[in-house]
Amino acid sequence: MASNFPSLSDVLYQELRSTVRGDTYRRDDPSFLDYSRMFNGDVKVSSMAVVCPLDAPDVSQVVLFCRKHSISVSVKAGGYGTAGWAVGGDIIIDLCKITDIDIEPPAPDGSFISIRDMSSLGSKGKVKAGPPLLDIPDAATSSKRRREDDNELRSYDLASVTVSDFLHPGGSSAPFADRPPATRRRLYYAAPALETPPMSTYSVTSGSSHNPNTTLLSSNSHGPFIPMVSNPLDSNLTSMDDGAITAVAPPSPLPDISSKPSPCLSSSGDPFSYLDDAPNNPAPPVASTSRLAQSMPNALFATPSFLDSSTNILTYAMPIYSHAFMTFGAGKRQKEIDQFSAANPLEAMSLAGGRGAVPYHIPSAAHPVGSAIMISGGFGFLGRLHGLSSDNLVEAEVVLADGRIIFVSHKEHPELWWALRGAGPALGVVTRYKARAYPVPVVFAGNLIYRFHRATAPSLIKHFRDCVKGAPRELYANVLLTAGPAGQDSLVVIQMCYIGPKVKGQEFLQAISSWDGERCLLNEVDEKSFLHQQDSVAQVLRGKAGNKWFIRSALISSLPDDIVNKTVLQFADTPVGCTWLFELAGGALGDFEDNCIPKAQRQASFNVAALHQWDIEFQDPRCVHSAEEWIAETLAPVTLGGPLPSFLGRQEPPGRVIACYGENWAKLCEVKKKYDPDNFFRSSFWPLNAEGEIIEPEEHEPQHIEF
Ligand SMILES: Cc1cc2nc3c(=O)[nH]c(=O)nc-3n(C[C@H](O)[C@H](O)[C@H](O)COP(=O)(O)OP(=O)(O)OC[C@H]3O[C@@H](n4cnc5c(N)ncnc54)[C@H](O)[C@@H]3O)c2cc1C
Repeated sequence: MASNFPSLSDVLYQELRSTVRGDTYRRDDPSFLDYSRMFNGDVKVSSMAVVCPLDAPDVSQVVLFCRKHSISVSVKAGGYGTAGWAVGGDIIIDLCKITDIDIEPPAPDGSFISIRDMSSLGSKGKVKAGPPLLDIPDAATSSKRRREDDNELRSYDLASVTVSDFLHPGGSSAPFADRPPATRRRLYYAAPALETPPMSTYSVTSGSSHNPNTTLLSSNSHGPFIPMVSNPLDSNLTSMDDGAITAVAPPSPLPDISSKPSPCLSSSGDPFSYLDDAPNNPAPPVASTSRLAQSMPNALFATPSFLDSSTNILTYAMPIYSHAFMTFGAGKRQKEIDQFSAANPLEAMSLAGGRGAVPYHIPSAAHPVGSAIMISGGFGFLGRLHGLSSDNLVEAEVVLADGRIIFVSHKEHPELWWALRGAGPALGVVTRYKARAYPVPVVFAGNLIYRFHRATAPSLIKHFRDCVKGAPRELYANVLLTAGPAGQDSLVVIQMCYIGPKVKGQEFLQAISSWDGERCLLNEVDEKSFLHQQDSVAQVLRGKAGNKWFIRSALISSLPDDIVNKTVLQFADTPVGCTWLFELAGGALGDFEDNCIPKAQRQASFNVAALHQWDIEFQDPRCVHSAEEWIAETLAPVTLGGPLPSFLGRQEPPGRVIACYGENWAKLCEVKKKYDPDNFFRSSFWPLNAEGEIIEPEEHEPQHIEF
């Protein structure tokens, strides 16, 4: 890190420390680097200090301190925002210590306990009396609102690890883009338990602790796929390089960080190392209650559920509630929230006898993202069924630019409530969120992987597009093109996640996998826990903290043939580490019109993203320019305004930022003027200065290393 940036003076440091209970680290403190580190290694931090408040009053004190001394501020949650706004202020407010988390079923009238009536980490446990939870005994009630202390995670099958091994046969130390482009070479896979297959045969197994039927595909040339039962112990993936066969370590269990005290720093000082953490524990006992949901989606009735408190097998369970409410501190990351959901299922009606349990998950992006998605969009596997993350927020605790602490919901501060869900980073500091979470007993999900050939990829993408047209809301699907790793073929990956059991989702798999233009190298679509599926994106992307990251995204109205053809030709020339994604949008995204993400954006057919990562030392302008050209030029005929705000990246042209809000932009500016008139929260995507004039990104983004 460059040392020519100033640190906080002794006088100011003492004053700040005397008013804030959380820790403060000045620039010259070794911990400063750890707390200010971003996922995107390309963000250069020029801040004077990092403060880690314990709660909203602490955040308020930092805000007042900064105002008093005319010091700029920025707010960091997960630190995954590739633009780096989270660390652009003189003082960084790192929310990583605000990590309380809780789940509650709805009260009989459908209401929830207001955040203001719940204790927070720093409040010494004082809780005002809230409405009764349910008409059930005290003991059962307390088990419903389990605290993080109870948090444990059980292990499920390892298909995403199989995918990871497939894509990254060098293991976890071989991320996608840590090397410059090199000669791409082919991979061959063989299961050693079988006889050595001919060169035209691909056999891949995935380890599974509970499901012996995990798919093993064996395919001759262009012949049909033959599903076979595999023994996970026999599962070894091999990489053949110029005749040499390299054994790959067997898959490791899904990471469990649920019992770790602080999400922000590991003992190694790496705030992102939790992504690579290890093993698991059994789930805790479940809550008990007997109230039936009024409006349960049919697809979720009596489906297999991975969560049973006493066994490690699939059971049939029927969720009791249409949704639950989760309250969590802004320092929680998505992976930790999902792990809490999995470890704290709510009681379900078991059809197999005994107790049933079903986890409830918040609609969100897949891992790895932080909690900022709650106020900037957030699109993921549950989005088509239940809406964006922001759409499912029901209340927030917010510190305003004048230091006031308020609770915002449809009943309180309605204008801010409208604007917060989509443009939150420009309006205040959210310290705690409350959001709807939905029962997800099981998903039928996974990846179909094909080799990328410029001659055949257009046909596959068009086939995918035609298959998912008119799909039900329960089906999430994307097709992505991914370049590398270095020395290997680029791939086309189709990811599907049917929110329901195999029996209902397999028709979509059959349709998608009926394409026979290339061999399918791997098909690991199977019944899984949602937690497992959420982690599979991180496994597939192998997103590496510390790499340079560049993201460009758009929402598009349609995907015509000529755009598919051009996309494939352009992609063929991208460097290793570039991933281009077409994600089926629609469904429930169109149901929500009560926040600032406009209707026109919500009617998009596909969410499109270029996710580029490359080694910090590597210089190649194509890593940025290829993404910009694809989005700004190739996709221009079908682009609808800007991207979802959660996908805004660095150096975004102001016009694209404004286009995110379309017809709502003028109203949003009014709300901004009312709640942050002097643009205190300027270290955000907000493209105007305090006078309301457009400013270029360089003026308000943190300093970056030059490309
Ligand atoms: C590999 C990768 C994959 C991704 N995939 C998806 C995806 O599938 N879907 C999707 O929607 N997005 C996706 N994203 C984008 C992601 O949603 C954003 O990067 C998101 O902002 C990250 O959240 P964070 O908490 O880590 O943000 P941070 O970097 O900590 O903050 C981002 C912005 O929000 C502000 N902010 C953060 N917390 C608060 C708060 N509590 N109050 C006020 N302001 C706050 C910060 O000041 C900053 O301006 C992806 C990003 C990456 C890197």
